[in-house]
Amino acid sequence: MTRPTKLAAAAAIFLATFATQPASGYLADLTLPAAGGCPVLERWDISAAQPLNRRWSTSLPLAPVTILTVAAQNSAAQLTEIENTIAAAFAAWSGVSGTTFNATNYPGVIGPLTRVSAANVCSNDSESNIDGLNTICFNQSSAAFTTGVLAVTRVITANAPGASVGSAPPAAFAGQILDADTLFRNDGQATFATPGALSTTQGQGAYDLESLLTHELGHWFGLDHSAVWRAVMFPYAPPPGQFLGTRPSANAPDGQLSDDDRTGIRMLYPDPNDAVNVGAIRGQVLPANPFALATLPQPYPGASVTGIFGAHVVAVDAATGSVIAGTFGGWSCNSSNPSAMPQFDGSFDVERLPVGHNYWIYAEPLVGLAQPGDFTGALGNVCPSNSATPCTTPAVDTNFNPRALPDGP
Ligand SMILES: [Zn+2]
Repeated sequence: MTRPTKLAAAAAIFLATFATQPASGYLADLTLPAAGGCPVLERWDISAAQPLNRRWSTSLPLAPVTILTVAAQNSAAQLTEIENTIAAAFAAWSGVSGTTFNATNYPGVIGPLTRVSAANVCSNDSESNIDGLNTICFNQSSAAFTTGVLAVTRVITANAPGASVGSAPPAAFAGQILDADTLFRNDGQATFATPGALSTTQGQGAYDLESLLTHELGHWFGLDHSAVWRAVMFPYAPPPGQFLGTRPSANAPDGQLSDDDRTGIRMLYPDPNDAVNVGAIRGQVLPANPFALATLPQPYPGASVTGIFGAHVVAVDAATGSVIAGTFGGWSCNSSNPSAMPQFDGSFDVERLPVGHNYWIYAEPLVGLAQPGDFTGALGNVCPSNSATPCTTPAVDTNFNPRALPDGP
């Protein structure tokens, strides 16, 4: 079953007044500033007071029932059980050390989880209901629920400072997330169970609500899918009856996440006081034979593709064999120049690695279960939107074979 894709829409266009943040093809969603220039990462403005309001609709589909709980349907206890599952999914992300969304070091950065009783309070398909309120809905239909889609998250970002939607304050920067909504399928094509209900008889065949929520909330924070199999942000859900990682505990509220998920949110929201996760490995993925790229179309006049675009670059802890982070090689940009055009030179940048470790780096083509189409937020459109120079993002290059070099000098 596929997990949902994110639908992003740019908000109204205002003048941009400053250069953009550096970005080089990490597994985060990208926004093209209205003013042109390099793509920027999508993220919340954590300098605002309680930047992330959050609420959920207690309107639940009852015919057919799609949300399975231990508590009786249509009871106050059922709502509490679902709300606890939502809170646990948020707590996974806010339990990651080394981020400004860390609930311990930065309490209050995420607002209270409130309830709204009405159905259809998430941004609808025509995007006429983008209200700046971040909502989870279980009883709202969507044309996005095509075959295999279990849940959908829409993230609305500003493409220029000053852009606003609904009650959200105007954006401080291009790429700022203004609204995030998650809708769960409600047509009986899939059922979802809270952790308590998943192992019961009635929960057989149901998907783990906590795993799916944790994945969707990763999109809220600005993450695209990950090509790391174990990652919560992998585009495919665990099979019915199964869940990812370990259930959260008081000591490990982020037990559902993988190290790749943790690295991703640290990269988006680095804690300035973090002295551990400050390592970076940068490089390029280049073909052994540069003529292999010679026949690719130019992204824009005068440019050429000089490196592999869209290679999955993975950092592995050499001592433990654990995957710590995955990213994509593909492009680089001079972020200090607002009119800069991306260079498709195969650059990659793995950030926020724990220091004091040795790492292996490997690159592989996106030819497995996760396909290039699963990463449109990070790889779909890297070319400036209103550039005077027409620019076409190259197709993801899967025409190479990974090769392990012999160890040693
Ligand atoms: Zn997803």
